[in-house]
Amino acid sequence: MTPAPMTRATVLLIEDNAENRYLVTFLLEQRGHQVVAAESGLRGLDLAGRITPDVILLDIQLPGMDGHAVTRVLKADPRLRGIPVIAVTSYAMVGDREKCLEAGAEGYIEKPIDPDTFVASIEAFLAPAEGSASQ
Ligand code: MN
Repeated sequence: MTPAPMTRATVLLIEDNAENRYLVTFLLEQRGHQVVAAESGLRGLDLAGRITPDVILLDIQLPGMDGHAVTRVLKADPRLRGIPVIAVTSYAMVGDREKCLEAGAEGYIEKPIDPDTFVASIEAFLAPAEGSASQ
């Protein structure tokens, strides 16, 4: 029995892969969070402006506008730049993490997602920095 989440968050998930959307949505909803999903960067940006989510989970490999470009647009918008962006990517390339952070993302999670740790790593961006959580 896992404890209830500290915060019930609205999570914007920008991900073009249906299986990944399903898995991420399932894991987050199981913990009481609300997920709003978008299949493209443009749709995600539109939703971000309308729902002001608590956190944005952003796939990097998206058709058309990729996750780096989406991050840059979010971070250039004074109304949206405060929302933590967590890049979720399957790129295993050297330097990709840096590329995400350079574009302005606050976090980076690699696919495949580990169901045992995924939600906690998202919640780390929601919870206030209470004491020290570093290990
Ligand atoms: Mn993708």
